[in-house]
This record gives sequence, C-alpha cells and structure tokens, in this order.
Amino acid sequence: MKTLTSHPDIASHSATMGEKKRIGLVAHDYRKMDFIDWAEYNRDILMQHDLYGTGTTGSLISEKLKLPVHRFMSGPLGGDLQIGSAITENRLDILIFFWDPLQAQPHDVDVKALLRIAIVYNIPLACDRSSADFLISSKLMDQPYERYLVDYGTRMKREES
Ligand code: PGA
Repeated sequence: MKTLTSHPDIASHSATMGEKKRIGLVAHDYRKMDFIDWAEYNRDILMQHDLYGTGTTGSLISEKLKLPVHRFMSGPLGGDLQIGSAITENRLDILIFFWDPLQAQPHDVDVKALLRIAIVYNIPLACDRSSADFLISSKLMDQPYERYLVDYGTRMKREES
C-alpha cells in the first residue's frame, strides 16, 4: 500500500474504510438518555451503516430506532473489551462512546483500554454529543477512506535499542 507520509513513526500501511461504515455504539447508564436522543435524531444516517453496540446500549438503540444492531456483551461484563478487540482486528471503523464524566465505573480499566485502543488504531472517536454530530455529518461518512496506522512497532524497537 502506498506510503502516506515520510515521517518515520507514521505508517506505511493503512486500513480501508468502505462507504458503509461499521460503527460501535457505547453509552454509560447516565449518558444513555442523551445517546438515544442523539441516535434518534441521526437515524437516517445511522441506518445507512452497520451498527454494533455493547449489550444494553445496543438493545436500546435497536428497540428505539427499529434498526439491527450487532450486540456484544454488556460493558461491565466485557463488552468494551470486545469492541476494543474488534477495532484491533479491523472489524469496526468508528466509535461513538458517551462515557460518564461524573461517575467511576466498575469496569473503568476496560473503559480506559477501549479509549486507548481507539487511538492506537486511529479510528474516528466521539465522546460527546457535539463531537458525534461533527463526526456523523462528515462528508467522509459515505465515502471510502484510507485510515493510516501509526507504526508503533518501529518506535518501540527504537526505544528498546
Ligand atoms: P452497556 O455497557 O451498553 O451494556 O450498558 C456500556 C458500558 O458500560 O460500557
């Protein structure tokens, strides 16, 4: 695949995102009402893509929007980690994650892991409603996109030597 940049830490490889995006949807309990409201408002766009969610968030979106949503486990039971794993295997393109800024979660370590892995794999990530609005209304939503992958391997080898 073509080199996207000459910077040594930036990838010589990329992942292709198709016209139809695979969108991960996660909301903590106190953020679910806002998240559902956002999703209902954006139903026409969301219905053009493949939707994935953690257990409860996925069920609510499916029920309220009458759209199919692939459901992982509930967040506290490993759903965030399953979403993270899907990102590493290039099975998800985008993550919309309304996490609760006021309350610690029993699975805070999983939340941190998911946010970290979204950055490692350079996927579009929105954690609040206005970011989600900007993301979902991007003209790139219905175009293919080459998402570059940072070459962390080269950096790690350099730091070891
Ligand atoms: P839930 O999980 O959709 O099953 O509530 C979300 C989370 O807490 O990460």
